[in-house]
Amino acid sequence: MSTVEFATAHPPSSSAGHAATYYAATAKGAFERPVLNEHLTADICVIGAGFTGISAALELAERGYSVVVLEAMRIGFGASGRNGGQIVNGYSRDLDVIEKRYGAKAAKALGAMAGEGADIIRGRIAQYGIDCDLVPGGFFAAFTDKQLRELDEQQRIWERHGHGGLERIDRAGLPDIVASDRYVGGLVDHKGGHIHPLSLVLGEAAAVEKHGGRIFERSPVLSVEQGAKPVVRTQHGAVTCTYLLVCGNAYIGDLLPEIGGKMMPVSSQVIATEPLDEAVIRDLLPANYCVEDMNYILDYYRRTADNRLLFGGGIVYGGGDPASIEAKIRPSLARTFPQLANIRFDYAWSGNFALTLTRIPHVGRLSPSIYFSHGDSGHGVTTTHLLGKILGEAVAGQAERFDVWSSLPYYPFPGGKTFRVPLTVLGAWWYGLRDKFGL
Ligand SMILES: Cc1cc2nc3c(=O)[nH]c(=O)nc-3n(C[C@H](O)[C@H](O)[C@H](O)COP(=O)(O)OP(=O)(O)OC[C@H]3O[C@@H](n4cnc5c(N)ncnc54)[C@H](O)[C@@H]3O)c2cc1C
Repeated sequence: MSTVEFATAHPPSSSAGHAATYYAATAKGAFERPVLNEHLTADICVIGAGFTGISAALELAERGYSVVVLEAMRIGFGASGRNGGQIVNGYSRDLDVIEKRYGAKAAKALGAMAGEGADIIRGRIAQYGIDCDLVPGGFFAAFTDKQLRELDEQQRIWERHGHGGLERIDRAGLPDIVASDRYVGGLVDHKGGHIHPLSLVLGEAAAVEKHGGRIFERSPVLSVEQGAKPVVRTQHGAVTCTYLLVCGNAYIGDLLPEIGGKMMPVSSQVIATEPLDEAVIRDLLPANYCVEDMNYILDYYRRTADNRLLFGGGIVYGGGDPASIEAKIRPSLARTFPQLANIRFDYAWSGNFALTLTRIPHVGRLSPSIYFSHGDSGHGVTTTHLLGKILGEAVAGQAERFDVWSSLPYYPFPGGKTFRVPLTVLGAWWYGLRDKFGL
């Protein structure tokens, strides 16, 4: 194992330019990178320093390519530095749905990759000595017997695709995992777990630099000249590259409408409580697994390294902050852990992920020299690591796995930009009703 060392002295740690999150306040390795103010030439230019962009950059820097990453704000500014930190294996659509929609061949190929994102994360943490509070184990909590049966079915499907590490828990086993009487049982994924996501992406970014890659912050890409050698321009500089990787996800805006039009930004809300006594948090989550429930609009929570409860949930279609994050989260938290009904929240924030209509990531090429990946639809910590690596492989000439993803059909949201939000809200309302009445 080698520890990441910085080639040059960095300015003092700074969270300026990040959202005011628990992660920004506690991240390790948050050094300011320079603004791009020259015209560079590189093999690879990556737009966006989230998990997707940094994973691709690292894959390619490790292979010896010259890599420049341009980040509009700070490394991990987007969803990658704000999420629940839950390492969830698989995709936002279950493998049986993938099989029904896209056929057995696609399901087999995607099934074979379904555990790889978590392996990449664990591998990079070990290889580069990244200190990001990795804890093993995740739990899917069921409210109803119907949801338990769905989990049983998921376990069978996963095992059919060769993935082990799953353990069914009935009601009697719940007190060892979570002290809430809302659930009837669930499924432990011993290959899941949780991390401090901003520390992870910062550690991976430092690894890119260790391999000679260059990262510029506060350097939003303002235009892309497509062509055999794409040129991307920022306010004070430009990069001419052989390959451009577009990894701006929900924050890409209108930069490339061909990409942005096939996804919708959706925000989710997260809070971190004040630190709890160690005995109290251990009683709530004795196994220290992260937990997500089985509802369509789900709650997700876990313990942090300094004994806070980090609790997420809620949804705002179209992205952006709700009027009160506390009002969105506190009722669910209080239902789950009534003993914490009045606990102080030290941090509360929102972040945007990118939803696709199919809830499958959208991966492809705009031209022979411009590649993109986005749309992990809420479960992206592992998938972004996988797809970043796959973008890197494709650019390096091994496009078989890229082709599997890019051949899946993608559709724009019905209703265009004006009606896609209300139509999606309507659909989610229906699924919410089904959860509420256990249908
Ligand atoms: C609140 C929340 C909680 C979540 N919890 C979980 C969880 O617990 N587990 C899980 O698996 N998934 C979770 N997710 C989803 C997961 O975080 C995302 O799928 C994943 O981080 C997306 O990574 P990304 O690199 O594709 O995008 P991002 O991390 O959003 O990165 C995109 C980057 O591109 C930059 N950018 C955009 N446009 C430009 C431009 N023009 N020029 C330069 N830079 C640009 C942005 O500033 C941003 O930094 C959560 C998401 C949210 C929002």
